[in-house]
Amino acid sequence: MGNITYDMKYDKNEIVSMLNARGADEEALMQRALATKLEHLDNNVHLRGLIEYSSVCSKNCLYCGLRSGNGHAERYTMTDAEVLDCARQAMELHYGSVAIQCGERSDKAFTDKIAYLVREIKRLSDGQLGITLSCGEQTEEVYRQWFEAGAHRYLLRIEASNESLYYKIHPNDDRHSFAKRLACIDNLMKIGYQTGTGTMIGLPFQTVEDMADDLLFFQRKGVAMVGMGPFIPHPETPLWQYRDIIPSVDERLAMTMRMIAVLRLMMPEINMVSATANQTLHPQGRSRAIKAGANVLMPNLSPTTYRRDYQIYPDKQCVDETADRCASCLELQMRAIGHNILYDAWGDSKAFLKNQSKSR
Ligand code: SAH
Ligand code: SF4
Repeated sequence: MGNITYDMKYDKNEIVSMLNARGADEEALMQRALATKLEHLDNNVHLRGLIEYSSVCSKNCLYCGLRSGNGHAERYTMTDAEVLDCARQAMELHYGSVAIQCGERSDKAFTDKIAYLVREIKRLSDGQLGITLSCGEQTEEVYRQWFEAGAHRYLLRIEASNESLYYKIHPNDDRHSFAKRLACIDNLMKIGYQTGTGTMIGLPFQTVEDMADDLLFFQRKGVAMVGMGPFIPHPETPLWQYRDIIPSVDERLAMTMRMIAVLRLMMPEINMVSATANQTLHPQGRSRAIKAGANVLMPNLSPTTYRRDYQIYPDKQCVDETADRCASCLELQMRAIGHNILYDAWGDSKAFLKNQSKSR
């Protein structure tokens, strides 16, 4: 599967100046991004019901509450029956697709279990539910095993495309290798997954030039999907110490919106998710990202008993909200901004589908 190629419409200076837009210029950027989305895609918003499968993680990323070094985190792994119940609920709520996300593990018991769960979800939904995985770095063989089991999309954020920034937010050891992360993204694309990547926005030491390079990285890679969201410091992590030197909540959120808007201009047909972290920082965060050019939402399907223990970052929204209440709340939010939730559809990336038909 070849990567999707894009006209390099904007150079780095132009991207930086768009990311620095404020006031009327910023408003004009948002309007152009929304118009571009409506022209190339439509006003439909696609859903991925999020299943937060396990908070057990063998990695130690310096920003994440699930890092293995956080001795205060409660660890859980959902039972098979609980995962399959989430999938059934997704069917009942007419979500066309689910996403299984979890801490990273590479032992065979885990990798076989994910393959088993993917197959079972396919079986119980008669092949109807689309399945996205976001289970970290794995060998090419494991990615293939999961693809063959029926997963067709994979999310693996690069987190920071600047290697030196990458090592400021990860331990510098062979379990947190920038080269390996890049190789994983390449393997996913080669296997034929609709591959998504992304970054956090407002990290300590991150500059606007870094962020422009992140957008150029997504374009160069030709990924089918992007998920970017604001960084939210977690008190039980090493990056907490920088909470006073990072941009304010409002600025992180505003920069996330500008990143989404600029990327929509650069890659008009990709799927872009409005991260849950947007909603954590602002009650209208999710809708703002959709208006800025995102077209995917990931409502949480996880049993409420586990939600408090899947604290990638603190104060996650809707930790007590059951899945059906979450669905009706989203419906209202999207209608209020002139968007339409598309039910019972996989909502594949148009960029990916077009590229696939070209390479046939
Ligand atoms: N273990 C998998 C998937 C779970 S983490 C993985 O790492 O790929 C999912 C995403 O949460 C990460 O890619 C990261 O970008 C985001 N994340 C982690 N800690 C965060 C924080 N403190 N603030 C905002 N996003 C965070
Ligand atoms: Fe684990 Fe993912 Fe968190 Fe890193 S970001 S500690 S891999 S859950």
